[in-house]
Amino acid sequence: MRVVLFGPPGAGKGTQAAGLITAWGVPQYAAGDLLRAHVRDNTTLGQRACSSMEAGELVPDALVIEMMNTHLSSAEAAGGFLLDGYPRTLDQAAALDRLLAAQGHALDAVVNLVVPEQEILRRLTGRRVCPSCEAIYHVDTMRPQREGVCDQCGSALQQRPDDRPEAVHRRLAVYDQ
Ligand code: AMP
Repeated sequence: MRVVLFGPPGAGKGTQAAGLITAWGVPQYAAGDLLRAHVRDNTTLGQRACSSMEAGELVPDALVIEMMNTHLSSAEAAGGFLLDGYPRTLDQAAALDRLLAAQGHALDAVVNLVVPEQEILRRLTGRRVCPSCEAIYHVDTMRPQREGVCDQCGSALQQRPDDRPEAVHRRLAVYDQ
């Protein structure tokens, strides 16, 4: 299976992907998660991507395309993959087309998740994440047992810098564009 999940931030791509990759046995490549790992590990890519990400802007195409091509050309991806948050621009889509053509493959499906903007704002601004084990919570609908503390590993929960309301509005505008 070679599938792309489309949808604005907060549409639930990551949540749906988690079930699908188990069912299909393919790797998931979530551009946002991969970029956040680079920022956390303070790699050269992470240093170059960090300011765009915190502002809710897109990371420059050349950086993202190179990162994703590396994953999509790996042995792990040879039998299929699920893409989440990539491609996000026309240049990225063209780069994906070129890569698939060179490999002699095609996408099986592109799934577009549609969610009303009010619901997205509620989800994202209330989201809290565990910086250690990446578990996800929500201040209203998925509270941890102890406020602000991860149920799974005990770390202090955080709000992603780009889940603050001003950055969420920017991300949605960038997505629409
Ligand atoms: P996400 O976790 O998908 O909401 O992505 C978080 C942030 O990572 C985005 O706001 C962008 O700054 C960056 N990002 C994720 N995917 C891409 C992409 N395909 N192209 C450019 N920037 C991206």
